[in-house]
Amino acid sequence: MSVAYIGLGSNLGKRCKMLQQAVARLRQLPKTQVVATSSVYESPPIDMSRQNHFLNAVCKITTELSPKTLLAALKEIERSLGRPERYARWSPRPIDLDILFYDHQVLNQDGLTIPHSEIPNRKFVLLPMLELDDYFHPVLKKHLSTLLAETNDASPVLKTKISIALQQEN
Ligand code: ADP
Ligand code: MG
Repeated sequence: MSVAYIGLGSNLGKRCKMLQQAVARLRQLPKTQVVATSSVYESPPIDMSRQNHFLNAVCKITTELSPKTLLAALKEIERSLGRPERYARWSPRPIDLDILFYDHQVLNQDGLTIPHSEIPNRKFVLLPMLELDDYFHPVLKKHLSTLLAETNDASPVLKTKISIALQQEN
């Protein structure tokens, strides 16, 4: 059984509903349990254009799926929630699901990079992730609290009162 952290983001459509549905789908994955869900954070789009603001959160899961199988499952959830197969980078998306960490594994193969390469540059990942665990980054060899203190991301990331953990977690 492995522990993984999934980053969730949405800036198109009913963003809050998208996150809730994504968590519900994560719960339905085989051999997988959602064990914790962070608060939801709101942040401006990365390119600061006139796109909608993002809602972001992080889920901690335990799973027997391999990293590769888990990524395929996340892409399937993205598709089922209406994200097109192809889209421009940084374009608005109804749902984005990323594997942030998978145990303390370091992987870089078949288009899959673990830990997710943008973690140190994204406050909207660091803040919700830190609510769950001050995880040790196996490549940068630093805890997330240190990465947050050192990040160059100066964008305003605000904690909201939105709840996406509809069921009790233990
Ligand atoms: P981002 O999540 O950085 O905003 P995308 O969602 O557009 O960007 O990701 C593009 C591709 O990155 C995905 O198709 C996926 O194959 C690849 N990828 C590499 N590593 C990961 C990971 N750890 N989690 C999710 N996707 C990843
Ligand atoms: Mg992604």
